[in-house]
Amino acid sequence: MSEFVMTIAGEAAPTEGTFGVRNPATGEVFAQAPECTRQQLDAAFDAAAKAARDWKADEAARRAVLLRAADVLLASGAELAPVLTAEQGKPLSDAGIEVFAAAIWSQYFANLEMAPQIIQDDDEAYVELARRPLGVVAAITPWNYPLLLGFWKIAPALLAGNTLVLKPSPYTPLTTLKIGELLRDVFPAGVVNIVSGGDELGAWMTSHPVPRKVSFTGSVETGKKVAMSAAPDLKRVTLELGGNDPAIVLDDADPSIVGDAIFEGAFANCGQICSAIKRVYVPESIFDEVVEVLVEKARTIRVGEGTEPGVELGPINNLPQFERVKELVSDAISTGAAAPAGGAAMDRPGYFFQPTILTGLLDGTRIVDEEQFGPALPVISYRDLDDAVERANASNFGLSGSVWGGDEERAHEVATRLECGTAWVNTHLALGPHQPFGGFKWSGLGVENGPWGLAEFSEIQAVHRSKVAGSPSISAG
Ligand code: NAD
Repeated sequence: MSEFVMTIAGEAAPTEGTFGVRNPATGEVFAQAPECTRQQLDAAFDAAAKAARDWKADEAARRAVLLRAADVLLASGAELAPVLTAEQGKPLSDAGIEVFAAAIWSQYFANLEMAPQIIQDDDEAYVELARRPLGVVAAITPWNYPLLLGFWKIAPALLAGNTLVLKPSPYTPLTTLKIGELLRDVFPAGVVNIVSGGDELGAWMTSHPVPRKVSFTGSVETGKKVAMSAAPDLKRVTLELGGNDPAIVLDDADPSIVGDAIFEGAFANCGQICSAIKRVYVPESIFDEVVEVLVEKARTIRVGEGTEPGVELGPINNLPQFERVKELVSDAISTGAAAPAGGAAMDRPGYFFQPTILTGLLDGTRIVDEEQFGPALPVISYRDLDDAVERANASNFGLSGSVWGGDEERAHEVATRLECGTAWVNTHLALGPHQPFGGFKWSGLGVENGPWGLAEFSEIQAVHRSKVAGSPSISAG
């Protein structure tokens, strides 16, 4: 048995089977996670369905529970952050920030207004729009921000009156299992069930008859499978998928300021953020200066095990991802790109890759067109701004993007031409619970966060009270 246990119907749910979880800083298995059986998944959905009846009836209680969950998170940073660092690889301080951010999301939704909207109130009728819960939600998360992205789902799903079964990635199940345990006394039994297992468990969840909604964060490839699996039952789906975010630097930008900020936006969490900067377009006139700043940052940033004091960048989370980054960087170099910083894996155990800056890339290079999701950044020069915008948009991805320049109005105008869910001006990765987050094109379906994200965990219901006797009439409202 594992010291990490699933939570079903408010209780610890031990399993016979387990699977190993590796520390990416060593490549070694350091813990066992429970392997959920089909019967246990049925039990989790059954518990969520039963709990839904009472849970949806008391909005004030739901808000109070979310606030208490936030308090528990805030009090548990010292316990949760080392687990997160061990399974994910991020520096301990970043792990602490993730725990804190999860609490902020819980608090935000605990206080978010959800009042019915009156859309007609005249001699003919009174019409009110209300949001009704969907029922049970199947929530599936990836390995880059397991706890925070879990709360992007838990908090709005619960406020809207749903109950939920949550499955983290098999690479990072432990922090989520731990939070299930810590919150067992906070959530009423069955309201939040935490299960763990492999990809197959995710597929069982999306095809299960009980959930009415699938809230999924992960890759485009899996997102498409989720959409297909949910379709026969017309389950509602929100898909938060991959990105290949462009950053466009304008010719009036200050190279040292944008170089620093773009580095942060590209290498935070070791580049493993869906909306990290994944390609940079820089005008020829300041190309060398911007590259110089990026190269200096890449050569001097402190890379190491997340538990070492002062470490700024950890390893890549898992072996397949490590191999993928290696492959994309080698492919770029073999087709003529230069790597003025990095360019190879680090000579040490674990999945460490040198922070890499690539220049001289040809159009159509894989690392420009695909999502690398790791510490390697292609920098591409351009002459004509319209051409740069066109190249930035010539992608199936459309998660986010940014434009950087001295003249904010001009940068703003260029940002509005980006085909993506979030267009930043002189910043990147500025996210908050109040701001909708989602992707255009293959980067997703629907949004999370803010009242828009909350709405996706509900059905809209028009309650129409007629004020005139007799047969119904058509009104323009
Ligand atoms: P992934 O798609 O491989 O896995 C994500 C989750 O889906 C895991 O829990 C996995 O076990 C589960 N899963 C796998 N196959 C499944 C199936 N057939 N049915 C149901 N569930 C299944 O993604 P990953 O490698 O864990 O995460 C990296 C990807 O996630 C990147 O593409 C990244 O851009 C994306 N991501 C997107 C966002 C966003 O908000 N848009 C945020 C973080 C990460």
